[in-house]
Amino acid sequence: AVRMEGVYKRFGDFTALREVDLTVKKGETVVICGPSGSGKSTLIRCVNGTERHDDGLIYVNGIEMTKANVDKVRRETGMVFQNFNLFPHMTILENCVLAPMSTLKMPRKEAEALAMALLQKVRVEDQARKFPSQLSGGQQQRVAIARALAMNPKVMLFDEPTSALDPEMVKEVLETMKSLAQEGMTMMCVTHEMGFAREVSDRVIFMNEGQIMEIEKPEAFFSNPKSERARLFLSQII
Ligand code: ATP
Ligand code: MG
Repeated sequence: AVRMEGVYKRFGDFTALREVDLTVKKGETVVICGPSGSGKSTLIRCVNGTERHDDGLIYVNGIEMTKANVDKVRRETGMVFQNFNLFPHMTILENCVLAPMSTLKMPRKEAEALAMALLQKVRVEDQARKFPSQLSGGQQQRVAIARALAMNPKVMLFDEPTSALDPEMVKEVLETMKSLAQEGMTMMCVTHEMGFAREVSDRVIFMNEGQIMEIEKPEAFFSNPKSERARLFLSQII
């Protein structure tokens, strides 16, 4: 579970997050949407400690995000980015065993067995010996998900995981995310895929200018957004 209370993030004079209160329960999937620059990436980066928040409290599985706890909190989370971020000079399998072996001190054999099971889960096990550049974008993104899962995270964070993909590959990545959600993973997903939001998310979070403007069940958000800003946003992307 993730809890944010009165969170602020500033970059110089600019306030990127303002008074953010949000609780994501265990097993819940939330979609975070909103216009460009509204603070979506900043919000999830604060949850995994890539950005340090300036004010307020953030707890991940009950561990408070403090300077001293950053590594500990980060280990509770898995993050998937827009651009896959696989290590280009390593095979798919090596990409997936690296962190479990170095961080968790898992023996190679065990790490490889785990990696292969996860690659199978995301249906790219036949690509294990290849290098990232030899895979399609959709395959690379599914590897990125498997690699994150190898660290046994309690919360998965996604930042526009499909926005760099060709349309035909978007679906396979969303399907992977959907099955993860259905297995009970706690997920925070920044995405403009409103079909996914509607079908998979438990709640939709709409951000604008660093603030959470709406937190609604998807049915309510899509059929009757409360704010004019959300109405406009939806009219532009759907
Ligand atoms: P997008 O949909 O374009 O990805 P976003 O909602 O993810 O947008 P953020 O990346 O969180 O937006 O950025 C929120 C605001 O904070 C933007 O105005 C951005 O310019 C600013 N910002 C983000 N990171 C930094 C930084 N390191 N230094 C200064 N300003 C930053
Ligand atoms: Mg962003």
